[in-house]
Amino acid sequence: MRTALVPTMGALHRGHLRLVEMGLRTADRVVVTIFVNPQQFAPGEDLDAYPRTEKADVEKLRAAGAHLVYAPALLEMYPEGFCSTVSLAGPAKADLEDKYRPQFFEGVATVVAKLFIAAGCDYAMFGEKDFQQLKVVTRMARDLSIPTGVIGVPTVRADDGLALSSRNEYLSDEERATAPLLHRTLQEVAADVRVGKDITRACSGARDRLKQAGFRPDYLEVRVADSLAPVESRSETELRVLAACWLGKTRLIDNVAV
Ligand code: AMP
Repeated sequence: MRTALVPTMGALHRGHLRLVEMGLRTADRVVVTIFVNPQQFAPGEDLDAYPRTEKADVEKLRAAGAHLVYAPALLEMYPEGFCSTVSLAGPAKADLEDKYRPQFFEGVATVVAKLFIAAGCDYAMFGEKDFQQLKVVTRMARDLSIPTGVIGVPTVRADDGLALSSRNEYLSDEERATAPLLHRTLQEVAADVRVGKDITRACSGARDRLKQAGFRPDYLEVRVADSLAPVESRSETELRVLAACWLGKTRLIDNVAV
C-alpha cells in the first residue's frame, strides 16, 4: 500500500486540496499534516496573525478524500530541550527567499524532516508555488537518505492568475485587484527571455513596472530551474522566473517556467 504525505500550515484553499488530489492519484492513502511551524517565522513576521481554521480544514480534507489528518501540538513537535536542526546549502542559499528570510528554510527543512521520518510515507506532495522550498526539501530528503519521494504540483491560481495563498486573506480589496499583476509580469519576463531578450534588462524592467503599480519587490530573478543558480549560459535547459513582492502589508511570492 502506497502512502503520500501533504504537509501544510492549514488555512486550506484549493491549492492545498490539489496536493491532496495529486496524492490520491499517486498513492492509496493520503496523510495531511497541519502545523503552523514557529521555527520558520522570524520575530516580527505573521506567526500570531497567521490564519488558523482547523475545523473547516478538517471538513475540506474529509470532502477531498484524505485518509488521515495529523495536527500536532507545539510540544509534540518541539519537546523541551529540542535543539537539533537541519543545516542546508545549495538551493537553500540562492539569494532568493533565503536572503530575505534567513531562518526560514532551516525551520522548514527541520520540521519537514521530522514529518517525513514520523510518517514514513512513500511520497510527499509540495506545491511549485513555493518553488525554492520544493527544491530545498527535495535535496534535503535525498541528502539525508529519507526514502520519501518529493513530488512537485503545479500552482493553482485564481481566474485572474493570482496564485492561491493563505496570505491572500490579508489583502485589501484594492490590493487584491492589483495583485494579479505579479503573475502577469512574471509571464512577460518569461516571454521576453524565451525570445532571447537580455535577462538582466527584462528583470529590471519588470521590477520597475511592479514598483509603478505599488508593489515593493524583494527580488525578481531568472534562475536555472533545478539548481536555482544564476543563469550563465542561455543554453541552460530549464529556467524559472521567481519573485517576492510586498503589496501593502502582504508579502506575495510567485514563479513561472520560462
Ligand atoms: P502552506 O500551508 O502555505 O505551508 O503550504 C502547504 C503546501 O501547499 C506547500 O507545499 C505549498 O507549496 C502548497 N501550496 C500553497 N499554495 C499553493 C497553490 N496555490 N498551488 C499549489 N500548491 C500550493
